[in-house]
Amino acid sequence: MQFSALAEVFDRLEQTNSRLEMAEILAAFFRTVEPTELRAVIYLSSGRLHPEFDPRELGMADKLALKAIASVAGCSDKKAEELWIKKGDPGTVAEQLIAKKKQMTLFSEPLTLTSVISGLTAIEGAAGRDSQDKKMKHLARMLHDATPLEARYLCRIVTGRMRLGAGTMTVLDALAAAFATKEDRPDLERAFNITCDLGLVAETVAAGGVAAVQAIPVSVANPIKVMLAERLRSLDDILLRMDGKCALEYKYDGIRVQAHITKTGVKLYSRRQEDLSPNFPDITAALQRQLRGKEAIIEGECVAYNPEDDTLLPFQNVTHRRKKHGMDQAVSDVPVKIFMFDLLLLDGVDYTMRPYPERRMTLEKAFAAAGKAPAGGYDHLDYTVRTIVDNTVAAQKFFDEAIGAKCEGVMAKSLSPESIYRAGSRGFLWIKYKKDYTQALVDSFDLTVVGAFYGMGKRAGVYGALLMAAYDTDTGRWGTTCKLGTGFDDAFLAALPGRLEHYRAESKPSAVDAEMMPDVWFEPGLVLEVTAADISISPIHTIAAGAVKEGAGLGLRFPRFTGRVRDDKSPEECTTAAEIVELYRLQEERDTDSVEAQERDADSDNETNK
Ligand code: ATP
Repeated sequence: MQFSALAEVFDRLEQTNSRLEMAEILAAFFRTVEPTELRAVIYLSSGRLHPEFDPRELGMADKLALKAIASVAGCSDKKAEELWIKKGDPGTVAEQLIAKKKQMTLFSEPLTLTSVISGLTAIEGAAGRDSQDKKMKHLARMLHDATPLEARYLCRIVTGRMRLGAGTMTVLDALAAAFATKEDRPDLERAFNITCDLGLVAETVAAGGVAAVQAIPVSVANPIKVMLAERLRSLDDILLRMDGKCALEYKYDGIRVQAHITKTGVKLYSRRQEDLSPNFPDITAALQRQLRGKEAIIEGECVAYNPEDDTLLPFQNVTHRRKKHGMDQAVSDVPVKIFMFDLLLLDGVDYTMRPYPERRMTLEKAFAAAGKAPAGGYDHLDYTVRTIVDNTVAAQKFFDEAIGAKCEGVMAKSLSPESIYRAGSRGFLWIKYKKDYTQALVDSFDLTVVGAFYGMGKRAGVYGALLMAAYDTDTGRWGTTCKLGTGFDDAFLAALPGRLEHYRAESKPSAVDAEMMPDVWFEPGLVLEVTAADISISPIHTIAAGAVKEGAGLGLRFPRFTGRVRDDKSPEECTTAAEIVELYRLQEERDTDSVEAQERDADSDNETNK
């Protein structure tokens, strides 16, 4: 395949905001691609050579790419850099400078998908002292043969700036349209949710149809998208929803990991499928040592722990384990435990379709001595504390114990025969209930930064406020929900421009809906945790537009940054439009209840005074 065919498709995708149109463009294109090439096409569309959970990255610095561009375009590095400062994207710089140069170039060999993949593989693999020079030369070699449009995408791919706006759901729509039917779409989605590998799903459906996709197994080689919990505002409501009986587990406040354990090694994936194994060598060693079996996939929460007085430490402590360097010190400074709560695979048996009671029972037998500290030292493995309840008094008592043990609250889990592990979906089989729910607004929000406003007065020279957005899973777009200017400390504000630089966009990103005009736009990327006093109908914010009131979205009032950067969440994993609508309705119910309660109190006062 000629690389130009792919570059043209990328360009067409960038021209539209419509998810439907993107799926049509992709489906038509996929039909023309050989199944063996489809995998690479899928990875390249998101600027990679591998699935996202594979830590290998092209990660070329913008300035290095600019050097390659300048050398091919025959201009100075300075000229390329000046254009880059104006445009903010090496892809656009490459396109413009190479377009000028091409008018004079006589001959070059057309790029093919294969030649591009081998060039990019060489860039990825360049190592040693002169690795930067090698990377630059490999890129320059490809740029020499590239058309301006191809140069745009080559440079975006190598610098990690591919943002076509066609998300996973759109690609799955396109795959169903190209190689299966609409009815098969859930099978494709499940295959993606249990493998996190869109390239694998694409290649399989193109080569073997939907039957082959259904046969893709849960495997230790692939992380599984995590199951998520719904929320309800009271233990009564939870019991009602669970048909009067459920399991309750302590809800620990740590880092969720999915452990893939084999005889040869253990990988710990974050909920975003990043490899956290180097951060928890003590946990990986204990899991491998104590597994009674050959291989397993389990989930648990890693929590900082004080072995001396047997207490759990707040979330901030475990974040010290998320660094890239100085791990030995962090391991000895911050002891951690994993509290295991689920089992998804054991010795070749897929447990994701089995009910929760069976998964839990098997989990509790799968590890030798978990939860029992060996003589002379503490153990890194434990199970989440749990109980079964069928009345509110018992549920409240367990909740109070969880809070006393420094947990965030409880997780209610369905005991029904249908209580399977729903990879990648949020539902009422698990319901979270936290201490915060008794306060002003139920739960915090995880929002992505899409814009920034320059600060004034004390904040001159740094960003003073951020435009924050939530995600709409139906449309695959982000909508704004608040302007956030509170809760930042000086160090955070000073570091913010650097942190956001990679996401800077020339104009409003095509996947963002916004009425507000910030001074600087950003592609959705950085996710922050935000609390708010309440949710109100908003004429300027665009999330959930029309869901509660025609022509209006929903906005957060008095938003405040909690200090927690959600590095473990991708912008697609932000709080969703549907969740904000649900929280708005919960808030409305709560307000109605409290007005009714006040009226009842007033009535009974009147009765007493009579
Ligand atoms: P969400 O995971 O729902 O997107 P979140 O990441 O902001 O939201 P919470 O709303 O606090 O987290 O609750 C869900 C998280 O609670 C899980 O993803 C998991 O990390 C954690 N957790 C702690 N204890 C348990 C438990 N016993 N069972 C399942 N999850 C637990």
